[in-house]
Amino acid sequence: MLEGKAAVITGAARGIGRAIALEMARNHAAVVIHYNGSGEKAGIVRKEIEALGGRALPYQCDVSDFAACQEFIQAVVREFGRLDILVNNAGITRDGLLMRMSEEDFDRVVDTNLKGTFHCIRFASRQMLKQRSGRIINISSVSGVTGNAGQANYAASKAGVIGLTKAAARELAGKHITVNAIAPGFIETDMTAGLAEKVKEEAVKRIPLGAFGKPEDVAHLAAFLASEQAGYITGQVIQVDGGMAM
Ligand code: NAP
Repeated sequence: MLEGKAAVITGAARGIGRAIALEMARNHAAVVIHYNGSGEKAGIVRKEIEALGGRALPYQCDVSDFAACQEFIQAVVREFGRLDILVNNAGITRDGLLMRMSEEDFDRVVDTNLKGTFHCIRFASRQMLKQRSGRIINISSVSGVTGNAGQANYAASKAGVIGLTKAAARELAGKHITVNAIAPGFIETDMTAGLAEKVKEEAVKRIPLGAFGKPEDVAHLAAFLASEQAGYITGQVIQVDGGMAM
């Protein structure tokens, strides 16, 4: 249970982020529904959380913008007076073969997935250090663990998130702030909806549990990592992938 805790979930208007926001709210955390372009959907998630009896505040910010992230986190601390849980979930893909990949597609993915995670940790950890406690959960990917053809930019960004997680875990452990990464496999969201049927069929064959995961499969682990019970777990990368990359 997360009573009295304030949780920021980036990219919480849809997909995995939305499921994490709802699960945090079910566990009684006050939730910041961060979004970039999906303002309307963020408003719907707010209503869903309020219907559960929870408190939710939508906030718009491009995580690839250093100064905007500073303003964002400062606004959260002003509003809630604290910040206990940060889930860095916002992320994008711009898939393509390495030899044809544009610099723009490489930079955009790294700037959002890796630098965006750094930006939010950079500012949120300041408040957590003051509180001498905190939980940071970064959404990586099995692509960052094993690599994936056609995803050089994405795999590099998500492997970077793993390195960042471990460095931050070591830096912040002394102040009782844990930092862990979740590496999902294939999860049913907008991100995977666009995959060709043939690609999906081939992917399912490689998953021992025989199906794509649901956003809630990731959300349950995030809520556990945010809880008091997970206080002795830090610097870990936990895969939620149906056994695909064991
Ligand atoms: P999704 O449905 O495509 O949602 C992506 C989220 O990222 C949206 O909420 C979006 O916000 C946000 N976002 C994108 N660019 C942003 C920016 N510049 N600033 C702020 N927010 C930004 O994706 P998903 O499947 O839920 O993925 C969530 C996370 O899980 C990502 O980090 C992804 O890499 C990771 N993941 C997903 C899978 C999978 O199979 N689905 C597997 C492994 C890892 P707006 O809509 O408001 O713009």
